[in-house]
Amino acid sequence: MDDAVREITEQDIVPRKTIPLSEECPDAPAVPAPILGALYDRLESCVRSYSRSFPTEFSSAQNTRLVDSNGTVFLDFFAGAGSLNYGHNHPALKKALIDYIKKDGVTQGLDMATGAKSAFLEAFDTTILQPRGLQYKIQFTGPTGANCVEAALKLARKVTGRAGIISFTNGFHGMSLGALSVTANPYYRNSPGSLPGPVTFMPYDGFLGPSTDTIDYIRRYLSEPGSGLAKPAAFIVETVQGEGGVNVASLDWLRRLSALAHEQDILLIIDDIQMGCGRTSPFFSFEPAEIKPDIVVLSKSLSGYGLPLSALLIRPALDIWAPGEHNGTFRGNNLAFVTATAAIKTFWSSRDLQEHASHLGRTLNAGLCELIEVVRQCGRGRAAWARGRGLIQAIDFGDPLMARRVVQFAFERGLLVETAGVEGSTVKLLPPLTSTSEDISAGLRILRSSVEAVLST
Ligand code: PLP
Repeated sequence: MDDAVREITEQDIVPRKTIPLSEECPDAPAVPAPILGALYDRLESCVRSYSRSFPTEFSSAQNTRLVDSNGTVFLDFFAGAGSLNYGHNHPALKKALIDYIKKDGVTQGLDMATGAKSAFLEAFDTTILQPRGLQYKIQFTGPTGANCVEAALKLARKVTGRAGIISFTNGFHGMSLGALSVTANPYYRNSPGSLPGPVTFMPYDGFLGPSTDTIDYIRRYLSEPGSGLAKPAAFIVETVQGEGGVNVASLDWLRRLSALAHEQDILLIIDDIQMGCGRTSPFFSFEPAEIKPDIVVLSKSLSGYGLPLSALLIRPALDIWAPGEHNGTFRGNNLAFVTATAAIKTFWSSRDLQEHASHLGRTLNAGLCELIEVVRQCGRGRAAWARGRGLIQAIDFGDPLMARRVVQFAFERGLLVETAGVEGSTVKLLPPLTSTSEDISAGLRILRSSVEAVLST
């Protein structure tokens, strides 16, 4: 496999063929977006959501560009909700996938050993874990992030024999509910930790304002016998809350949370589903805090190609699962293993992508800070904020209606972005890490034109 390990080159970062945007000029008239017709209303459930935010039919994509069936080109700063950190259809990943399919590589292998899985395990260990001084066992769960979170919670409960979990204000960890509660087999039902236990929401960093140290607050709850809080199995936390509105925990807060977990013998689960795989620049978002979580949840961009793949990283001493105790048909998607291995070798054998993403993140943040000034000058943005880490950046308008209209106007001008936060007052930007500086500038121009259009209405 070593022949595929090589330094990242400009060609990996810059798309080979740049598709020009339809609307790079902020003053240009809005793109008339084809509105999805009766087919979707008639046949797709009302539960659909992104086809409402971006009402057109997409047909092809490359790196930061999505093209719809009318040939209109959009700049994609949503990147499959963070599952396309290396852009759409990266050539190195696509080639690996096509080669594998051409040679009739195993596609569905349940969780059997396959060459694709062996290559992934090898590459993940040698290129991601070992250089970071990390030692984890890897559990392949069902392909969704939510299934991987379920596995993390079950394992934490099984290991500690405790039922409770501490989660955090504005946290988001998935949407699954109750599959095991309707499964009869007692092997699965009665597995220790498999049934949901109490969840207590504690204040995330900054939730109680700048003058309240929420770690001290949590410590008090955990150490006072009269607090009413039973010792939980684990903390589950995101280093940056993506869906929750791009709330960024300080590195010091993360370090102190890790120390508190250690001190109280509570497991620390980092949900790196959205912030991992380079979104905040380093591969793992917790690296700069220099902590070693007990359990790490990975999904979204792990396959690098938008193919479903989730993995739980488990401190070896905690790997007390019995065989098949958390199982599922699609544990280990071989096509995803192939692209994930190619992504690791293409992007993580050097620091180039990490530095590139960090540079782009600073540019994006500076552009958003300028935009905040524009909003404030119009007297509309007293609550406006720009924040983020690496290439997860956001502008919080403090006004859900304004954020929703900015998203809509941006779409009409050829830029895909989404709202985030419990009230939806934040516009979240997560361009592919393989974006160019020109992409970031073009996105900022469209965003500015959209904000100005909203302000003038
Ligand atoms: N955890 C985090 C931090 C997420 O951002 C998400 C999805 O956005 C999930 C869990 C759930 O992942 P999935 O939608 O694949 O179930």
